[in-house]
Amino acid sequence: MTLKKRKILGGFNRYRLLLTLGVAVLLPAAGLIFVNFNQLRSLERDKVLEATFHREFNEYLAISEKQAAKKAYSMLDEARALYPSPDDSTSEKERKLDLILSKCECFGHLTLFDEKGALVRSQPKLMNDKYFRKEHDSSPESYNLWFKLEGKSLLEQTRKKGRPIFYSSWLKRDDVDVYSSAAIFSVPGVAKDRVVLGVATFDSNYLKEHLFPQMIEELRAKKSADQGGNPLAMVVFPSDAEGYEIKPFAASSGYGHGKPEVSRKLDEPFHGLSLGIKFQGTSIKELGETWIHRNFIILGILSLMIIGGLVLTKHIVSKEMAVAKLKSDFVSNVSHELRTPLALIRLYAETLELGRITTQDKKDQYYRIIRKESERLTALINNILDFSRIEAGRKEYEFRETDIAELVRNTLDSYRYQVEQQGFALEESIEPDLPRVWVDREAIARALVNLVNNALKYSNHEKFLGVKLYKEQSVVKLEVEDHGIGIERRDQSKIFEKFYRAGDPLVHNTKGSGLGLSLVRHISQAHGGDIEVESTPGRGSRFILSLPLGTPNLVHAEGAA
Ligand code: ADP
Repeated sequence: MTLKKRKILGGFNRYRLLLTLGVAVLLPAAGLIFVNFNQLRSLERDKVLEATFHREFNEYLAISEKQAAKKAYSMLDEARALYPSPDDSTSEKERKLDLILSKCECFGHLTLFDEKGALVRSQPKLMNDKYFRKEHDSSPESYNLWFKLEGKSLLEQTRKKGRPIFYSSWLKRDDVDVYSSAAIFSVPGVAKDRVVLGVATFDSNYLKEHLFPQMIEELRAKKSADQGGNPLAMVVFPSDAEGYEIKPFAASSGYGHGKPEVSRKLDEPFHGLSLGIKFQGTSIKELGETWIHRNFIILGILSLMIIGGLVLTKHIVSKEMAVAKLKSDFVSNVSHELRTPLALIRLYAETLELGRITTQDKKDQYYRIIRKESERLTALINNILDFSRIEAGRKEYEFRETDIAELVRNTLDSYRYQVEQQGFALEESIEPDLPRVWVDREAIARALVNLVNNALKYSNHEKFLGVKLYKEQSVVKLEVEDHGIGIERRDQSKIFEKFYRAGDPLVHNTKGSGLGLSLVRHISQAHGGDIEVESTPGRGSRFILSLPLGTPNLVHAEGAA
């Protein structure tokens, strides 16, 4: 009845544990992993990362373009404010235009067109370049032709717009493509009906070497940090090259080769140019793939850790539950073990008390039984007390230099009668002249008693008990051998654990607490030695307790094993 109840309780606990682990941990963990995994997959499939990068890159390009335009407009505004009036003398006009040229290197040519025709002044230090000089020389004629025809309408257009009109083109200088952007604007302070125009041409070199690189570096420095430290690279290139191999007009230092990830056709004032951006040394695709890959790996490791944690938890809890079960078995075993000798002692004592036993032989037999049963009780109680001391960390050993042979012989002597009574053949072999050993006498005697008791308990047909004491190198060994039921291989390491009892039916029919061998192990380890077992199921077992020679060290003396 009791057994059945316990089983149900055990089953219920296990079920509850699995249910808790499943519902409270496994399900949410699995859910989380699944959701994350799917999210990563969808990020990968829908190229969300790439799209995000593209969006951001587009924004950067727009910002850059705005900044470049702002700068160009402010340079033009400054120039316009200083522009000569058509009514100035020619030398005054030249002086004013030269002043603007000297103030801003950004302009290549400056032109004033009025009723007298076009006056063109150019950046003096560039006049050494023959192409530049040619442009300078041919400009007045072309402007005169053009503006005489269209000057009026151009003037109207720029007035309507409220800002300059731009003309950009690609010129060839020494087989090199040169970008040119010219701003046509109205000259301030001139009567509306007069056709007077100013033209400021940006110096291609200035754009290439100052304006664009500056704009590029500013953005690069600011934004690379946002991109997880991945350096950005930017390029300015002719718009008509978009989609083909690009020929950079200006580029940031680490641009290298290839097409930009995202590009933007620039509007006025730099029409005809495109601005492109990419990562230095890597691509968005690569970055996205690395990111996703890394996240998959992290997710995988975390999942493994969760699974490992669950397995470990289950393992620990199962172990705790097994110990709890062993403990409850222990309580019932011990109560049983206490009850039987007590009942016998009472029965025989009462019988003797009644004075019904007349023969001395019978009386002696009864006395022996009472003694034997009380000895069993004492042994059991000693075991339990020792065990509780060990558990509480209070077990202390008292080491004395001892004649171990005499100790073993004495202990066996008090058992000899009982052993022979039970029909066992006792074979005792004690090596002569063994050195003295530092031991706790009582503890070693108890270890031996436990081993002998087990040999008696776990033998059925062949009743043999062998006890050997001998020296091997620097160790004294105490062997207890039987030809009993033996121990299965898988049980051999477990029998030294507290409460553990093997599953053999004979073991279950034999009284026991599962404490004896755990005590023996504690005792042997406290002496700096160990206990081993060699056993074949059905053939018997041999327990070997080894004790090192020499003084025990303090750790052992405190009994902490
Ligand atoms: P107990 O004998 O009280 O059960 P022990 O700690 O002394 O506890 O032994 C633990 C288990 O080891 C026993 O239950 C038994 O299964 C096994 N065992 C111990 N000694 C022997 C032996 N000599 N032969 C076979 N099995 C043994």
